[in-house]
Amino acid sequence: MNIVIAGAGAMGGRFGSMLFQAGNQVVLVDEWKEHMNFIQQYGLEVTNEAGKEVIHLPASFPETHNGEYDLLILLTKAMETERMLKKCRHLIKKKTKVLTLQNGLGNIEVLERFIPRKSIYAGVTTFAARMTAPGRMEAFGSGVTEIMHIDNEETPEANELVDTFNYSGIHASLSNDVMKSIWKKAIFNSVLNPLCTLLESSVSEIGSYKEIDILIDGMIKEALPVAAAEGIGLNFDEIKHTIKTVFDPSMSGSHMSSMYQDILRGRKTEIDYLNGAIVQKAEKHGLFVPSHLFVYQLIRMLEESAKKKCTSENSQVR
Ligand code: NAD
Repeated sequence: MNIVIAGAGAMGGRFGSMLFQAGNQVVLVDEWKEHMNFIQQYGLEVTNEAGKEVIHLPASFPETHNGEYDLLILLTKAMETERMLKKCRHLIKKKTKVLTLQNGLGNIEVLERFIPRKSIYAGVTTFAARMTAPGRMEAFGSGVTEIMHIDNEETPEANELVDTFNYSGIHASLSNDVMKSIWKKAIFNSVLNPLCTLLESSVSEIGSYKEIDILIDGMIKEALPVAAAEGIGLNFDEIKHTIKTVFDPSMSGSHMSSMYQDILRGRKTEIDYLNGAIVQKAEKHGLFVPSHLFVYQLIRMLEESAKKKCTSENSQVR
């Protein structure tokens, strides 16, 4: 396949390098100059449990890059979806499928403003990665990825994507209800990411607090009626079980949430697309989600103070 990765940070780098190594034509496009320049000169350095590897794959800037692609994979943070789509509109032709593997609620609504629904695919992934420097990233463990055309459970094109991913070592399957999976992951993230960030703790540290169930149960129970009002039926026990599973130190280790890492760098977080989106949708349906509203406002305050601190210390990474 001819694939363009729009947003070549941690996850874009990880998926892009795996698809490239399996023989697909892959190009990374991103606005981060030092990162793109490093990859063009030295390649992308990926560190995982097996060691360090340098992958020489093409890297470019979205506005100036041209080409015909079968697939565009969108992997910016949720708040950058629109800006990225504006920059790479010209890369999306009639035949181009656009797949979002981003976290959060609301990415599909933005995609729909730029692309016909028939070209839009969505997925969720449990793969994880982080940037350590321009051109250098760390990939953690393995993961699974679900993919679906946003309207149809099974299409030949979706099957082709799943096969291409599996051939590249990205354990993928067809989802039978991708909106449900997106909501499940958004609730999971809306519980864990802000708690880890506000308490400056790893996932397993949060899980070791003996009354943690009070917080988790409350946040899940508030979010479920909002999902239901949006036509998404979710199961409390299933979401709680997924959260409890990652409290096991052997599952999450000392993993610090990416929201916390964004705060440390003075960057905006995806809070508007997690707790913020739950609050907004709750208001639309006349529902009240006080704990989501509380953590949403706390993280927004933290974003402001972290940005000021990083600017004054001149320590912002980018
Ligand atoms: P990231 O910040 O590492 O990478 C995003 C990249 O997009 C950056 O390199 C940035 O320069 C680029 N970018 C942003 N806006 C741009 C624009 N307008 N034009 C050009 N380039 C632009 O983020 P990430 O951690 O790779 O996450 C991407 C998505 O995947 C998020 O929605 C995240 O929640 C989700 N996700 C991340 C992980 C993880 O472990 N990192 C796991 C699962 C899902």
